[in-house]
Amino acid sequence: MNTGPAAMNNPPATSTPTSTNSPVATVTTAIVNIASLVTNDPSLGDGTPLGLIQDAAVVIDGDRIVWVGESSKAPATDNRVDAEGRAVIPGFVDSHSHLVFAGDRTQEFNARMSGRSYTAGGIRTTVAATRAASDEELEANLLRYLDEALRQGTTTFETKSGYGLTTHDEARALRIAARHTDEVTYLGAHIVSPDYADDPAAYVELVTGDMLDACAPHARWVDVFCEKGAFDGDQARAILTAGKAKGLHPRVHANQLGYGPGVQLAVELDAASADHCTHLTQEDVDALANSRTVATLLPGAEFSTRAEWPDARRLLDAGVTVALSTDCNPGSSFTSSMPFCVALAVRDMRMTPDEAVWSATAGGAAALRRTDIGRVGPGARADLALLDAPSHVHLAYRPGVPLVTEVWRRGERIAR
Ligand SMILES: [Zn+2]
Repeated sequence: MNTGPAAMNNPPATSTPTSTNSPVATVTTAIVNIASLVTNDPSLGDGTPLGLIQDAAVVIDGDRIVWVGESSKAPATDNRVDAEGRAVIPGFVDSHSHLVFAGDRTQEFNARMSGRSYTAGGIRTTVAATRAASDEELEANLLRYLDEALRQGTTTFETKSGYGLTTHDEARALRIAARHTDEVTYLGAHIVSPDYADDPAAYVELVTGDMLDACAPHARWVDVFCEKGAFDGDQARAILTAGKAKGLHPRVHANQLGYGPGVQLAVELDAASADHCTHLTQEDVDALANSRTVATLLPGAEFSTRAEWPDARRLLDAGVTVALSTDCNPGSSFTSSMPFCVALAVRDMRMTPDEAVWSATAGGAAALRRTDIGRVGPGARADLALLDAPSHVHLAYRPGVPLVTEVWRRGERIAR
């Protein structure tokens, strides 16, 4: 993956563990000589939220982490991998993306960068291209962006439907997504389908009726774009409530383009996450702070639409749990790079480097209500990103530089 000379000249010290013929035996591997390890467990490290350990080692057994600590104290293992003084962080958890789509919107982006503002309507362009694409084309496109994200350290991702907007097209998007992640979200309520432009109420009826019935078996989450030009508070409530009744957990596109009811609705319905959170009243911030709902900030969207930044500092100071995600989609945020989002969050949303790295890993896990990812400690999934840098701070300090030189996912060394 990393094409720099250092990566090419420094092959792994030991061979990559591979599955054995025995279904029982697992291979233990110690990754040693880690300059700085982010565990996201204060009890394991220096007591800060990142739980940093200097000169660290991680021991993996099968797909799980079984030990972390100082390198000199690492137990004996089958394999030993020398991290050569790199920093190691948990694999990024990208809890918000839209990767089942076809076509692109280069011209729209070009026009917007030449002065036109972003509205929800541009989604229709992608809907037309997605409907026209075959299953194979959609899956190949999805895999292309997953591979791109993986090479940048993303080991867990959530993705959604929302570019089909018919029962058939929404269900097939979810089926395709579910082949590649457990974190699948039904977003039939992305915009009102162009086929129902004259009768939005009938579209809401479809989204809460036949479409939901077809989609619920393939999804874990239900989402709605609660925004002027998409769905109002009452419509959003009906959609999320119907999804809950079918066993889906809510998450909400809220308060991206303006003030609105999305955040309050998310909190009221115990949504795992309110995503965007760019325009918040004090009541919105207070509601989030007194809830389990995570505020997921998507700085790629503000960057790519030249919009006002969400105020992460205000949320963090109020005690809100904040996640960072890419919102990767062809319209408003066409980046799969979590390191890029970390850099933007630090530079433009007033997060510290520690906060941004936490939010891009543990924060994403919280936004998916997962405890097995987003941390490096005993029992966690062995998902790691090795950085060609001595510290995680370099993710913000060296923006745009491909620092992720190696990725481990479920205990497998899958990209270098
Ligand atoms: Zn989104």
